[in-house]
Amino acid sequence: MASGSYSLMWFRKALRIHDNPALEHASRASSFLYPVFVIDPRYMDPDPGAFSPGSSRAGINRIRFLLESLSDLDSSLKKLGSRLLVLKGDPDQTIIRCLKEWNINRLCFEYDSEPYYQSLDEKVKSFASSAGVETFCPVSHTLFNPLEIIKKNGGRPPLTYQSFIKLAEKPSWESSELNIPISSLPPVGDVGSCKIFDVPTLRELGHSDFELDENTPFQGGESEGLKRLKDVLSNQDWVANFEKPKGDPSAFHKPATTVLSPYLKFGCLSSRYFYQCINDVYKDVKHSVPPVSLLGQLLWRDFFYTVALGTPNFDKMKGNRICKQIPWNESDELLVAWREARTGYPWIDAIMVQLRKWGWIHHLARHCVACFLTRGDLFVHWEKGRDVFERLLIDSDWALNNGNWLWLSCSSFFYQYNRIYSPVSFGKKYDPNGNYIRHFLPVLKDMPKEYIYEPWTAPLGVQTKAKCIIGKDYPKRVVCHDSASKDCRRKMGEAYALNQRLHGLVSEHDLTNLRRNLEEKYQTAEMNCRSKRQKRSC
Ligand code: FAD
Repeated sequence: MASGSYSLMWFRKALRIHDNPALEHASRASSFLYPVFVIDPRYMDPDPGAFSPGSSRAGINRIRFLLESLSDLDSSLKKLGSRLLVLKGDPDQTIIRCLKEWNINRLCFEYDSEPYYQSLDEKVKSFASSAGVETFCPVSHTLFNPLEIIKKNGGRPPLTYQSFIKLAEKPSWESSELNIPISSLPPVGDVGSCKIFDVPTLRELGHSDFELDENTPFQGGESEGLKRLKDVLSNQDWVANFEKPKGDPSAFHKPATTVLSPYLKFGCLSSRYFYQCINDVYKDVKHSVPPVSLLGQLLWRDFFYTVALGTPNFDKMKGNRICKQIPWNESDELLVAWREARTGYPWIDAIMVQLRKWGWIHHLARHCVACFLTRGDLFVHWEKGRDVFERLLIDSDWALNNGNWLWLSCSSFFYQYNRIYSPVSFGKKYDPNGNYIRHFLPVLKDMPKEYIYEPWTAPLGVQTKAKCIIGKDYPKRVVCHDSASKDCRRKMGEAYALNQRLHGLVSEHDLTNLRRNLEEKYQTAEMNCRSKRQKRSC
């Protein structure tokens, strides 16, 4: 073996140079440094059978964002005298092969708490340890180490935001210099027989046949993320007074929140650096406080990461001890109408179009469509909506997506199932003219404003003039919100009562019985209603 230290920096998330402790460690006292990204064909290769363009795991917008982030990382590495080595294959097998072939004695990568990475990392670490390769896996994706918080809490994750904050206190690095500039990196060593690629284009990956009439305005990469952060910070008043859930979900030319989530997801932006920048703005000015402040949003992120790590089966209803067991329906017909923006409610459909085209929607827009699909109107299982978001969001994040779906479906964290978002009046409050709807659903662009949120109420003459006949050019409503939401409340009430009676230990059999009872009651109520109507018309 050649003398000196041979380090491999394995990029997965943390696609950045700034505040990247794994990269700093890998470059320190190394004779050669191999910066590697492995393209997993299962994540990137086209899947023509999927419901939207993209691979079997990710929609096209997120794949594009990732490729842009990799190109940006490659050019930053080149400026430092290095480059990104792109390999293709099974990530664990590929990394193990590189460790062997390049005689690596130090492997560095950012710690990742997602189940996918936990099992991947276990395999790679086990090989490294048997081969005498030093591993360095710092926690730098989140503000805190979620494992430490769970330990502090006696081995269980805190289940409320307030208890999380109390345990977390201040991050240890709060006033340290995180962003130590790297002026150069060690050279890349000989790559032997390993096949190295440039960062591929979408077309090179085989994604050539998709045509979108409107692309996402959000470009991937650390440079873009830092630029966006700089823009956000330049409006110090806005940062200091930020309060969520205030803010207009229908604002799309200039979104009402930072849209830094995709950059945080891929680690193009360090959440710790973002935190320090917000704190700098807060110095000496009056500012909002958690949970509603901008800093408070980052704490929500860490809260969900911690609960997700400490909760077995966090991404499922079954076997998840913090999740209420609810007899959701499995209706694919309703799911597809929601997913394909065909519910007949323009506010809901416009949001679903924005999600598909842009891969990002405002937080309250996420609330509206998630509530509508689950406990608000359609009573479809939250896991199905979660899967759609997981595919289409650029910022799709395992802990945050599951955590928020649990929240919105009143399965965990939040239990006021009587509070339902109206698919008509909620959006109207922010955007009475329906500009958001007109943009994302151009079929309704000429609908007069008094009908834009409820086009089925428009007289036929108005529909004809607007060139939009309901039931022909735009779908009829899949459900009537008034009766559907009443029905959902009743079902949630009965499901909650069952969970309480059985102390959460609800079996599959109990759920099947409850589902049957609810259906029988529904049919009896329908029959009574029908006979009353008939009597009245006699
Ligand atoms: P800002 O308001 O500017 O907040 C700054 C950052 O704080 C965000 O980028 C994000 O990292 C964090 N943050 C903000 N709100 C939350 C929250 N409620 N929970 C956790 N972290 C938060 N966010 C994701 O990043 N990925 C997801 O897959 C995801 N899925 C969601 C699914 C549903 C059903 C809902 C209701 C919310 C989901 N969110 C998710 C949370 C939130 O909607 C987004 O983080 C936020 O809208 C992103 O926009 P922003 O960057 O402008 O947020």
